Amino acid sequence: MTKSRPMAVTLALFTAAGLMLGGCSAPTGEDTGEKKLTFMFRGGEDEKKAYEKAVAQFEAENDVDVDIIVTTADQYATKLKAAIAGKQVPDVFYIGPGDVQAYVQNGIVKDITEYVEGSETIDLDNIWEYGVDSYRYDGKRVGEGSIYALPKDVGPFSFGYNKTMLEKAGIPLPDKDKPYTFDEFVAAAKKLTADTNGDGTLDQWGTGLNVQWNLQPFVWSNGADWLNEDRTKVTVDTPEFAESLQWFADLQNVHGVTPSVAEAQTLDTYQRWMKGEIGFFPIAPWDLSTYQKLDFDWDVIPYPAGESGETASWIGTLGIAVSESTKHPEDAVKLVEFLTANEEAQQSLVDAGIQIPNLKDMAETWAADTTTKPANKAEFLQIVKDYGRALPGGNTFNAEWYDELFTNIQPVLDGKQTAADYLKEAQPRMQEFLDAANQQAGN
Ligand code: CA
Repeated sequence: MTKSRPMAVTLALFTAAGLMLGGCSAPTGEDTGEKKLTFMFRGGEDEKKAYEKAVAQFEAENDVDVDIIVTTADQYATKLKAAIAGKQVPDVFYIGPGDVQAYVQNGIVKDITEYVEGSETIDLDNIWEYGVDSYRYDGKRVGEGSIYALPKDVGPFSFGYNKTMLEKAGIPLPDKDKPYTFDEFVAAAKKLTADTNGDGTLDQWGTGLNVQWNLQPFVWSNGADWLNEDRTKVTVDTPEFAESLQWFADLQNVHGVTPSVAEAQTLDTYQRWMKGEIGFFPIAPWDLSTYQKLDFDWDVIPYPAGESGETASWIGTLGIAVSESTKHPEDAVKLVEFLTANEEAQQSLVDAGIQIPNLKDMAETWAADTTTKPANKAEFLQIVKDYGRALPGGNTFNAEWYDELFTNIQPVLDGKQTAADYLKEAQPRMQEFLDAANQQAGN
């Protein structure tokens, strides 16, 4: 069980003050400039502080009052649904790429294309294409067409290693420009898996990965994928897919380079990585503030690559959308633009160690800074620019078909069922969910 996973599940819980929705209280005096916006988002303490600061700056620079409604990551979806059902949609709020189709269809989010394309406050060309395109929708396909949100962030999910541990084991440090092959990775992981104090039990392991968040790079780099090009057919029942999943399961069952199930239950692999007991582990932007405090040296590398020889990974993102029913669309879009692209606001989020900059030029400066870890920050930018992909469940009407793969996968991970057998039996179930989702989307 890794803890390094998307923002939605990593952020610390906190008690949010004022969960009651302010609603879209009608402005009583447009003439006096008394304008009120509600902004609903989710996040941990660091993020809450950073956004409160950003919003205060926005209020100071604009003639608008912003009410903040903040929830924990876990509660956000429920609270937002309740607000929508109660017709108290916040003026500005977070959405994920997976929400776009349904929210557009139901008239909940506003098409902001005209505002942002003609904007004098932001330069759309200086914002990561991936971040903007994730919220485009042309009525058929997410990724193309009108813009329904701007990115709050993009989250390139990368891979890292404990440099200190590799050096101690006499393993040549991995090449940041040339991914390990699957075999090379297993060989290095085997050398790292050791009983270092000779008491008969292992003290360190090569790796310790979570199937739900870490399988994708290995599937993609092995030339397989979850869906066909037009997202109508589930394609997990291919030899390339089965080979990558089997390889993933074999890390534990055949090669023994991860903590056992029992060992991972005693202390999860995220904690073990932080204690310096794991050689290779995922590293995401939202981990950076925590990982600055690790007492070993570490860096970021591309994920090991399968048959294609090309490394792969995924990028998460959250977007900031405007309610279709807002009474102040121009101010609401201004707030979105500010949160996405204001340099000071971006800098304080980056300084908090919770995300990489949304602005391309600022990101290049950040990546060139060698005073903070990791040295190879450029890998994050390469994921965003070159090789990162959306999570397979993110661009369909819902992700039930995608989640289905993981529901009954445990026997494969335990070595009790082959990956090929499992995928053959999972494909029809996944296909049924996908067909239903596509039908709902009107595709
Ligand atoms: Ca030992």
